[in-house]
Amino acid sequence: MLEVFMTEERKKLKEEVEDFVKSVPRQLIMDMDADKITFPKEWVVEAGKRNLLGLRFPPKYGGRGLGWVDDIMVAGIIGKLTVSLTCLYALVSIVGEALNVFGNEAQKEKYLKPIIAGKMWAGEALTEPRGGSDFFGATTTAKKEGNYYILNGQKRFTVGGEGADFFLVYAVTNPGAAPRDSLSAFIVERDMGVDVKHVYGLMGVRGTGTARIYFRDVKVPEENLLGEENAGSKIFYKMMVPERILSGGVAGARAILEITAKYANKRKAFGFNIRTFEAVNFRIAESLTKLDAVSAFAYAVGKTIDDGIGTAGYQRRLVSELKVLATKVFWEVANDAMDNMGGIGYTNVYPIERAVREARLPMIWTGTNDIMKLIIQHEYYKELLAREIEGRDVESDVPLSEEEATEEKVYTDADQEKAQAAPVL
Ligand SMILES: Cc1cc2nc3c(=O)[nH]c(=O)nc-3n(C[C@H](O)[C@H](O)[C@H](O)COP(=O)(O)OP(=O)(O)OC[C@H]3O[C@@H](n4cnc5c(N)ncnc54)[C@H](O)[C@@H]3O)c2cc1C
Repeated sequence: MLEVFMTEERKKLKEEVEDFVKSVPRQLIMDMDADKITFPKEWVVEAGKRNLLGLRFPPKYGGRGLGWVDDIMVAGIIGKLTVSLTCLYALVSIVGEALNVFGNEAQKEKYLKPIIAGKMWAGEALTEPRGGSDFFGATTTAKKEGNYYILNGQKRFTVGGEGADFFLVYAVTNPGAAPRDSLSAFIVERDMGVDVKHVYGLMGVRGTGTARIYFRDVKVPEENLLGEENAGSKIFYKMMVPERILSGGVAGARAILEITAKYANKRKAFGFNIRTFEAVNFRIAESLTKLDAVSAFAYAVGKTIDDGIGTAGYQRRLVSELKVLATKVFWEVANDAMDNMGGIGYTNVYPIERAVREARLPMIWTGTNDIMKLIIQHEYYKELLAREIEGRDVESDVPLSEEEATEEKVYTDADQEKAQAAPVL
């Protein structure tokens, strides 16, 4: 964490989390990466016992009532372990957000409290085989019959598909309505009849039971509807804040940089430490600069949300920018680390190759970086076109008269009319 954000309380929390991270057996990480473990229940139980899950939620439900800056710091320390374990940490923050903001008391008692305590495990099932980017095009249906909703459909790539006790599932309850008014969110317990079809073989980020799950006439009691019927979009937008802030995994990249920096300080070529070569030490300098920039931005975004600054659209833009920047930097830092190591970096002698495999995923999940860019420009245009230019209008700082400039500034009518309908994001 950047010193400017550090407080005495955070120092203590940091020590607590470092202590937990140090205690995690190396074998767990190896076994998860080797797909020998489908889901690390003991890790979750231990994190819960230490009261390190769901930190932002009220003490009444077992949280610590902390803010985003703390959550980001802790996710960063857990990031030293693996992206897989950071993802399991983040899922409590993500599903917990939906339960905390939209759940009723009974739902918070039954589901939020135990996931914070590490006694129950939650997955989120948004993505369908037909496509994850077009979230509002979901085809899983929930039909009301008496006191139940009958769910039919399937979801893909669900972390905890194997392992989770319940899933937050979005399904169509209002077919034919506008996409944002068609979905509802449900808490679906595995034992209500969720089928696991296929656990995926992944390039990295293994050991979290990522699977395809099926709902075939699954009877979900009406009390498991989260929030209001057909108002799933509100929950989705709220959940996407923790989902995208915590999906980067970039903080773990600092540990990778340290490995490569120390290696470059010892390894010799042509009689010199390789850190004396500009190709190597500039990569280290650039990685560090990027990581510090991402940290500063991450904490600034966290504080913006903690303090409720700006509109929902403004916050959504910042969160999406952070997701793109952090995931890109993680990928670049991991690859630069590998370049610094030469051939040994490509082997399993150092955990660099695992980091490279893991760093590829965050650019894809929780909304691909393409989708993040769609959101960023969309929110930016909304803001830009709704306001006057702030302060000086630098567009007229040119050596042409206003008349000459106006004559040259040609925007054809056809261009104006070609604006296409934007996708629903
Ligand atoms: C290991 C793993 C774990 C995951 N965990 C979960 C989970 O726990 N829960 C869950 O619900 N999901 C999960 N996901 C799903 C993940 O969020 C999706 O894979 C992701 O959102 C992309 O969806 P898709 O794979 O269907 O790709 P598609 O939506 O088919 O996209 C394919 C390509 O088209 C591009 N594209 C699509 N639409 C547009 C557009 N309008 N403009 C520009 N480009 C576009 C995309 O950027 C991408 O490059 C996980 C995925 C993986 C691989």
